[in-house]
Amino acid sequence: MRIESKLPQVGTTIFTVMSGLAAQVGAINLSQGFPDFDCAPELTELVAKYLRQGFNQYAPMPGLLALRERIAEKTERLYGRVFSPDTEITVTSGATEALYAAVAALVRPGDEVIVLEPCYDCYLPAIELNGGVPVCVPLRPGTYAVDWPAVRAACSLRTRAIMINSPHNPTGSVLTWADLAQLADLVRGTDICIISDEVYEHICLDGEHQSVLRHPDLWQRSLVMSSFGKTFHVTGWKVGYCVAKGELAREFRKVHQFLTFSTVTPIQHALADFLADEANYLAVPDFFRQKRDKFRALLAGTKFDLLPCHGTYFQVASYTRLSSEGDYDLALRLTREIGVATIPLSVFFAHRRDDHVLRFCFAKKDETLERAAERLHRL
Ligand code: PMP
Ligand code: GLN
Repeated sequence: MRIESKLPQVGTTIFTVMSGLAAQVGAINLSQGFPDFDCAPELTELVAKYLRQGFNQYAPMPGLLALRERIAEKTERLYGRVFSPDTEITVTSGATEALYAAVAALVRPGDEVIVLEPCYDCYLPAIELNGGVPVCVPLRPGTYAVDWPAVRAACSLRTRAIMINSPHNPTGSVLTWADLAQLADLVRGTDICIISDEVYEHICLDGEHQSVLRHPDLWQRSLVMSSFGKTFHVTGWKVGYCVAKGELAREFRKVHQFLTFSTVTPIQHALADFLADEANYLAVPDFFRQKRDKFRALLAGTKFDLLPCHGTYFQVASYTRLSSEGDYDLALRLTREIGVATIPLSVFFAHRRDDHVLRFCFAKKDETLERAAERLHRL
């Protein structure tokens, strides 16, 4: 039997490769983005409570109403927009599912989707599996700011959507209000939708997160994704959501209901209770700002040149003073020889552009960061 691959260029994701290698050789894993500390004990207690109370059958297709209501309150409080929990907020099996459902709902064969690269690794396969054509526009080297004239030049009559991500994985850059204004100018008068990946909305480390939902024009043409995995240190729970207006939300749900139908029930109950206390998400930026500042201080004096990090829990660093090797080879070698696993940035580019930059995840216990830094100082 012969199967013609729908994704011939795709192998196993870098996150699986690097975490696997780190485990195999016993390296400190600063590669895949997940915390090595636990979530609030109150949150696990809540899940245990709902499990024991028998909330173990299918949740409603769009998500538990109480959780959608809490998401609507948070969205209004933070971004000043009112969305209907009934029709415009959908709980998903992680932001990954939400991103896929958004692309599948919008993109037809031959449609173009503008992607700013480097970009998170699930974007391009989602577009390609739906017959879309990714049009990659590089972020500006060094600052990873958006090159708006280049985005404008990439738009065509076939452009169906623009995918953005702020705070940005892998680079840690963030969109400013001026960026949103440029984006709004660019799409005004078109049918271009915005797929806005805001999974790090609560890990904006210098100033406020500029959600597209704040913008007077953009919010109505956007599908916005978030992830409780990132916000509450529970990446393994895979619960996220999508917020979108009217027809966009309707089309989104049509895909969601057949992609996964619904998301894990007791965890939705627990998240609804936990989200009711706004302190639980308002404390997140301070927590990660301390981690970022600590990690950057720890790496001072190494041969890595740290690039700015304004958001996410990733720090990118140029290693040109250390080696002329390719980033993938260096990441493998550092894992095996020094015992610190990282992610090479080239994997986030469609054509594997290699700027000799590695990504470190600093969502780790202080002692993990200290041990890693001690090893990196030996280089
Ligand atoms: N988008 C970005 C930018 C991410 O870093 C991640 C990884 N968490 C996701 C989406 C997927 O989120 P989830 O784990 O909730 O599927
Ligand atoms: N978002 C995480 C990262 O960027 C990884 C998620 C995954 O393993 N798919 O590292």
